[in-house]
Amino acid sequence: MQASAFQWDAWYEKVGGRSIKIDAVDDYLQQIYQDQYQRLDGPVNATVQPFTPTEAASLIKSKAIALGADMVGVCEVEPSDVYNGREVSERFAIAVGQKMLWRAFQTVPSHESAVECLRIYFTLGEIIIALAQFIRDLGYPCKIEHPIGDSDLLHIPIGLKAGFGELGRHGSIIHPQWGPLFRMGSIVTDMVMEIDHPIDAGIAKFCDNCRACRIYCPAKAIPDERDPTAGKDHLGNDRYIVDTAKCFPYFAKYNYCSMCLPVCVYNHKEWARDFEGHETKLWPNLIMEEPPPAVNPRPDKNPNPLES
Ligand code: SF4
Ligand code: SF4
Repeated sequence: MQASAFQWDAWYEKVGGRSIKIDAVDDYLQQIYQDQYQRLDGPVNATVQPFTPTEAASLIKSKAIALGADMVGVCEVEPSDVYNGREVSERFAIAVGQKMLWRAFQTVPSHESAVECLRIYFTLGEIIIALAQFIRDLGYPCKIEHPIGDSDLLHIPIGLKAGFGELGRHGSIIHPQWGPLFRMGSIVTDMVMEIDHPIDAGIAKFCDNCRACRIYCPAKAIPDERDPTAGKDHLGNDRYIVDTAKCFPYFAKYNYCSMCLPVCVYNHKEWARDFEGHETKLWPNLIMEEPPPAVNPRPDKNPNPLES
């Protein structure tokens, strides 16, 4: 079943308008919409460079990493990866990810964490624009699916198929090395490349026993159990479904919330912390403005004071 593209403007209108007013966020939005969006297309070289699928995938991946990507993978596009009412005729998607800095999420929600989300949308946009032109210079047409939204492709299934990680309880992909603190965009093309595959690193199983994101979600939007009616993830597990009717209004009001990402246990490994000489903590400060009352007191289980 195809998902419908999210109508951000209509939705912000419904919840009283975009209530996050941060100058640095507005600057990034302006640069993305007024500059990057004018550079999404480019000329295609009339001379096509021939590659084997393995050579093509290897060349594109090393170029993406050289441009600043932290992760890159290739998959074939299926109809279920495309938003309802949109079309993608290209056969392959190149998923590109860039990690956000853990140190910007030491206090959440905060202006700093909101700006970090937008900073990565911008820098990832630059990487993808440069990578797309590299592909066109090799003689292959391609199209950019910008990370900030209103794309034709659903980034999450593309990232899962490209081997970025497994789907966490909080609805974001967890990369085995970088955790969930990253953003994705993609490029679609008919350049034939060797594809990657979904991974099983034991993360989905780990989620079944860990509930850190659920416990700390201020909107109580993260579920306790997988939903057998919600379809399967790429490992055949029933999916966890985040209640967006609870998450989105909180997210819109409090600096894009994001609390579920830095509390995710997969960030608390030494390798996922920011190095470059920066002191960071293992656990963020959580600002719980207006946490709503618990919606599922789970009377059959031991009461958890954090959920009351
Ligand atoms: S963004 Fe905030 S409100 Fe939404 S699921 Fe994550 S923690 Fe909950
Ligand atoms: S906090 Fe725990 S349950 Fe939530 S996504 Fe991360 S590992 Fe999974």
